[in-house]
Amino acid sequence: MSFSQDFLTEIKRKLINEREKALQMIEDARNTEDTSNIIGEASEDQAQSLADMGNRVALIDTLEKTLEDIESALKRIEDGSYGICKYCNNPIEEKRLLARPTSSSCLSCKQSFTGK
Ligand SMILES: [Zn+2]
Repeated sequence: MSFSQDFLTEIKRKLINEREKALQMIEDARNTEDTSNIIGEASEDQAQSLADMGNRVALIDTLEKTLEDIESALKRIEDGSYGICKYCNNPIEEKRLLARPTSSSCLSCKQSFTGK
């Protein structure tokens, strides 16, 4: 494990914030027919995929998956396996983790697996 305690504390703070936000969005999505406001609050990443759906069930589904990713990232911090690429077992770039704390693969694996 090569990450500093400060780095992990920062990541944990971000994840907890995101979890709050996701929980709130799920709650909102369950209570409204109009999901456009909620999509407006989503992160750029999420908004991109949500914009294509326009359907509440799919929205809730996506948010629940986001929530699962957040929970499992928090769990990985606890058990010391956070930030390790699931494909190549190398540490994931800190910059990438700060931008997207739920990342579970490094940039080069992500690129080779998604073909981007
Ligand atoms: Zn990798």
